[in-house]
Amino acid sequence: MTPDRADVLIVGGGLAGSLVALAVAARDASRRITVVDSGAPQEGQSDSHTWSFHDTDLSPDAARWIAPAVAHRWPGQEVRFPSYARRLRAGYASLTSQSLRAAVEALPMVTRLPGRATAIGAAGAQLHDGSRIDAPCVIDATGRVPRGYLTLGWQKFVGVERQTARPHGRALPIIMDATVDQRDGYRFVYTLPFAPDRILIEDTRYSDGPALDHASFEAGIEDYARAQGWDGTEARREHGVLPIAMAFDAEAFWADAAAGPVPVGMRAGLFHPVTGYSLPLAARAADIIAAAMLESPVSTASVMAAMRRFALETADRQRFLRLLSRMLFRGAAPPARRKVLERFYRLPEPLIERFYAGDLTRADQARILLGRPPIPIRDALPCLREAPLLEDLRRKRAT
Ligand SMILES: Cc1cc2nc3c(=O)[nH]c(=O)nc-3n(C[C@H](O)[C@H](O)[C@H](O)COP(=O)(O)OP(=O)(O)OC[C@H]3O[C@@H](n4cnc5c(N)ncnc54)[C@H](O)[C@@H]3O)c2cc1C
Repeated sequence: MTPDRADVLIVGGGLAGSLVALAVAARDASRRITVVDSGAPQEGQSDSHTWSFHDTDLSPDAARWIAPAVAHRWPGQEVRFPSYARRLRAGYASLTSQSLRAAVEALPMVTRLPGRATAIGAAGAQLHDGSRIDAPCVIDATGRVPRGYLTLGWQKFVGVERQTARPHGRALPIIMDATVDQRDGYRFVYTLPFAPDRILIEDTRYSDGPALDHASFEAGIEDYARAQGWDGTEARREHGVLPIAMAFDAEAFWADAAAGPVPVGMRAGLFHPVTGYSLPLAARAADIIAAAMLESPVSTASVMAAMRRFALETADRQRFLRLLSRMLFRGAAPPARRKVLERFYRLPEPLIERFYAGDLTRADQARILLGRPPIPIRDALPCLREAPLLEDLRRKRAT
């Protein structure tokens, strides 16, 4: 098969597109997969990424096929708040842009091409140089969040990977060090120790607007590194503005997407509504797609049907997480957001693990809300219903 024809065409070779390639290749080595990637980051994102996940986010199957792409692993993680610090037992792991790309390029059935699609349809894509690639199954993994169907808050961050002059002394990731002073909403620092003298330091803020003031974040990182005594030089940096979902009109999104290519990843609104992370859902979606390809002749329509089912079930399961986002962004004044998280991380570890994996049970949900609710009832009441935000979205799409 030449590059202008494939069994599966994946437009966008970032996180979600690459995971689809890994999952499909793991189940059926006979599929010819073409991945086209423009190499251009999304608006507000950098093209250098570290994508992390908790071991408990993935099924054993997904853990197996993602393993070749993993660049770093740790046997636990920590959180720190003004009133306590806690070690969490779940292992943590990171992929990097390089490790993910290398894992995909090592697959003999995958051709990865540089190129920007100017039009993507259910039967193929038109590229910027005038060429065209046709395939019976086309996946849209271009990463553009469907904003018209979502009401959003933002998690913004700048990360600097620092080569430290002396060992930095950290062995485990601190996924939330909220002992830092609070600015621009809820602020914490996230650190990943890649080597004894190399550490990623990310200044992160949950704020109402998407504007990223780089200078302020850089100053935050510098203050943090100085306070830890981490002299050194910058080796790499990344930044992101991640969507936090307060409402999602998933039914309308999937109805409008029906005749096109199969959306995955951020393009399909498949991310954790409270953290903006998409890796766990991208891995599940990749498994769904790989399984659908074994069940019936590979076509955009059959994969679309399976993805739509999965995505609508996911959106339904995420109702409670969107409520938490509304409470965080609309119910809690910015200075109160840290208290909400501080209380949350005192909950039992299995619940925290299910929160990250997006698998909270009804009992977990009750546990989060009952007893001492995260915000006062009178502030929570106006946030309870998603319907007014959905109405608003529908009105805006109609005009
Ligand atoms: C810096 C950063 C760090 C993050 N860290 C984490 C994390 O630790 N864990 C986690 O779960 N989530 C993380 N996220 C959030 C989320 O998981 C990522 O944004 C993730 O990359 C989304 O995956 P995606 O495949 O949907 O989009 P992307 O990874 O952005 O991939 C889209 C790809 O499509 C390509 N593309 C776009 N348009 C075209 C076109 N027309 N033609 C061809 N190619 C095109 C782009 O070049 C890009 O490579 C992070 C986000 C950022 C920005």
